[in-house]
Amino acid sequence: MTPGTTRVVCLVRRPDGEPVPGDFAVEERPLPALGEGQLLVRNLYMSVDPSMRGRLETTEKHYTHNFTPGSPLDGRALGVVEESRCPSVPHGTFVRHQLGWREWAVLDPADTDGTGRIDPGLAPLPTWLGLLGQTGFTAYVGLTRIARVRPGDTVFVSSAAGAVGSAAGQFARMLGAGRVIGTAGGPDKCALLVKEFGYDAAADYRAEPVREALARLAPDGIDVYFDNVGGEQLVAALHALRTNGRVALCGMMSQFGTDAGRRSADINQLIQAVLKRLTLQGFIVRDHDDLRPEFENRVADWLRSGRITACETVVDGLDNAAGALLSLLDGGNVGKMLVRLAPDPS
Ligand code: NAP
Repeated sequence: MTPGTTRVVCLVRRPDGEPVPGDFAVEERPLPALGEGQLLVRNLYMSVDPSMRGRLETTEKHYTHNFTPGSPLDGRALGVVEESRCPSVPHGTFVRHQLGWREWAVLDPADTDGTGRIDPGLAPLPTWLGLLGQTGFTAYVGLTRIARVRPGDTVFVSSAAGAVGSAAGQFARMLGAGRVIGTAGGPDKCALLVKEFGYDAAADYRAEPVREALARLAPDGIDVYFDNVGGEQLVAALHALRTNGRVALCGMMSQFGTDAGRRSADINQLIQAVLKRLTLQGFIVRDHDDLRPEFENRVADWLRSGRITACETVVDGLDNAAGALLSLLDGGNVGKMLVRLAPDPS
């Protein structure tokens, strides 16, 4: 029996500066009746992503739609089919989709992915939104297709204890990198980089200028920079890159709310790209779906053999979802930030 309503997180108003809890509210909204061929999905986990920050604004051009005050948020989620009017996707199937930030969703099978492939026997369900999900895929695309990591490369990753960063460091190692260096905020995260995520060395960007840290940790320079944060760390990497170095521009965590003057100062450092014949390439992961089967096979194999580790920070309950986003923006996560929306049946 389809529930008539679902609890959803709505955007109340656009943030005035940094987002605050009052910008969001949990509301009860109608759930559409289940149509022919459709699925009723109970969401179990939802992904919390930095890209949500840009989508709260009108000023930032985004690769997907921006949110509207008064309307529900959305984003990646994993759920279980509770009722099916589609014989090929039976009751009990785990599916991933885009209608997160709510407890229940009515979906067309075409709007789901992972159908039939999500196997809790291979990895726990949260990992299918993290290392085996869009997050791990982002790290894989950035390293293999964009930065083209080669055996022996020295690879530098920023936000290295985060979701994409903790995957990128481990994948770089699997792809044969000679030395992997990461930055993160605080000594605890830096210790984890070396102990858990296979980094050779780590630096706390809050305690030491990254340019100095790279000179110390990679005195001969770096070949690849996987950029999750932009700003000062991108400038430091431009200086540390060797001739013909490659940069995968994945995201710019440090640039939210940064004033235009500071941005233009960073841009002036691009002369380094000229002098050293660097390649800098931005990418959006969803443009690279052709790589997904290769990614799933290789990463599942690395996981199965215990050569890489999945890591998630899990917050409980839809009522705490907005808080999880604010915490993520402030560095409150290690690995993938997720919200558990219902007891995990696996
Ligand atoms: P994440 O790294 O798990 O979480 C964000 C982290 O950013 C925080 O934990 C915090 O860690 C760090 N941070 C916050 N403010 C910072 C600042 N001013 N300077 C440096 N670090 C800061 O997030 P994620 O999901 O893995 O995403 C990482 C990046 O990938 C983001 O930029 C995201 O937008 C991007 N992304 C891009 C694509 C794509 O298709 N291009 C897809 C997915 C994600 P600390 O405690 O270390 O500061």
